[in-house]
Amino acid sequence: MEGAIVPPGPSTVDLHAHSTRSDGVLEPAALVEAVSAAGVRTFSLTDHDTLAGYRELIGAELPAAFTLIPGVEINALVTRDLGLWEGELHILGFGMDPADEAFETALVGQRDARRTRFDRTVALLRGLGMPIDAQVAALEVGTDDALGRPTIARALMAAGFATTVEDAFSRIIGHGAPGYVRREGLGPEEAIATIAAAGGIPVLAHFREAPTRLDVMRELVEAGLRGLEVYYRTFDATTVEAVGAVARDLGLIATGGSDYHGDLGSYAEAHASLWVPPEVGAALRGAMSG
Ligand SMILES: [Zn+2]
Ligand SMILES: [Zn+2]
Repeated sequence: MEGAIVPPGPSTVDLHAHSTRSDGVLEPAALVEAVSAAGVRTFSLTDHDTLAGYRELIGAELPAAFTLIPGVEINALVTRDLGLWEGELHILGFGMDPADEAFETALVGQRDARRTRFDRTVALLRGLGMPIDAQVAALEVGTDDALGRPTIARALMAAGFATTVEDAFSRIIGHGAPGYVRREGLGPEEAIATIAAAGGIPVLAHFREAPTRLDVMRELVEAGLRGLEVYYRTFDATTVEAVGAVARDLGLIATGGSDYHGDLGSYAEAHASLWVPPEVGAALRGAMSG
């Protein structure tokens, strides 16, 4: 890829990844093992709409000299037509108080909306002649798990209706495809306020359009946004630079991570193309304590 990132060394920071508690393929403990083995020392598990994985991890033994930051990702719905991908903006939250009851209530609402969408999608696919009920039943789903469309995509693959997660999205369940179901849930301003009210730092994830959508950026900053994901694994060097300039201009904390889900190979492979400068971890930790 032209302008692709060549990491100057193994990243010691990864502030964006998913486990089986949302739509990733590794259990939280297995993910931490892989992350730590790759050399990461500051990590945030940012499952969608749940802190369940974080709670499991702090209840178990973490690797030595390993900092785990409480994290979450909220896929916020934009109801106005801003011409955004699937009408969503993804808001990461870091450092929330895991005991905050109002925050947990908001996440429960998000998970309920996910479950409704998941069930509606399975029913719609049944009607479209692509039943995945058996594959879904085979998943061991916990009540706090935040299911997502990658989970549906994997069931479609297991049932032989799709070849890859990407194929499932583009032909079957993505926006504009026959198996697409609209979701409900928090808007970006609400997601930002909910994270901030629990003592967290709201950060806009993987928004490669940031340099050309300063209108959107300014609205979110007005609403309390404090950070922008600059060192996203699949951004090329030019995008990292341009998004980084927006973060600097707007006084936002730069974060970064792999957004590892596990569909395209091992964590080590994803990590090999990840570059998050060490000072990014230090800056976020500083903001959390300040
Ligand atoms: Zn996202
Ligand atoms: Zn993500």
